[in-house]
Amino acid sequence: TLPRAKFKRVLLKISGEALMGDQGYGLHPPTVERIAREIKSVHDMGVEICMVIGGGNVFRGLQGSAQGMERTTADYMGMLATVMNALAMQSSLERMDVNTRVISAIRMDEVCEPYIRRRAVRHLEKKRVCIFAAGTGNPYFTTDTAATLRANEMRCEAIFKGTKVDGVYDKDPVKHADAKRYETVTYDEVLQQHLGVMDASAIALARDNDLPIIVFSLDEAGGFRGILNGDGTYTRVHG
Ligand code: UDP
Repeated sequence: TLPRAKFKRVLLKISGEALMGDQGYGLHPPTVERIAREIKSVHDMGVEICMVIGGGNVFRGLQGSAQGMERTTADYMGMLATVMNALAMQSSLERMDVNTRVISAIRMDEVCEPYIRRRAVRHLEKKRVCIFAAGTGNPYFTTDTAATLRANEMRCEAIFKGTKVDGVYDKDPVKHADAKRYETVTYDEVLQQHLGVMDASAIALARDNDLPIIVFSLDEAGGFRGILNGDGTYTRVHG
């Protein structure tokens, strides 16, 4: 028998870069598959899973606008990048017999479903993994904010932010050997100390709705499943 998860419904946020492996750009299919396997193992426990994937492995709006592109256009390109990532993840999950829906904030009916809240909730109840694509559908936002928005709308118990490190540190643990990991940290501390968890608007939206953010490493096999049961190391961002 499988261990009982502490959570019923969660949202997993990963950056686009999490899917590119060591390539420096785009999608690395074995990496996508590895993460899909992590999601499947949590899905097998009966947890309802929402997902938001960034687009930074393909295009970032700020990058485009720094090169002279209209910011809004560049942001739409970034949002479209998240749709490609969502489709890649969908494809990987469905090869493992996990039912999924890609749900876009920008209509593209031939490619995926439009976002309709009640419909998305129904998919979750039927144990379909909902991959929310195209961010919030608005320029000047990030997929971290989209993740917080959808987690609130779907009434998720927490956002699980999968990163390269196992939590939030007082300084970059890759550069500083003496960096200290927080067990817990408040939303206000994250904002005041500019701890790189998520951007400020995402943190504020989580804070205003008491939505915990759990920062953990996606690099370890079985890590996501362990974290959902309260095992392993992570940082909990709370009120
Ligand atoms: N984006 C946007 N509105 C949103 C979400 C994303 O305009 O609601 C654009 C923005 O240009 C961003 C890009 O999509 O740079 C990719 O998303 P993000 O940078 O959040 O991806 P990540 O860093 O998580 O890979």
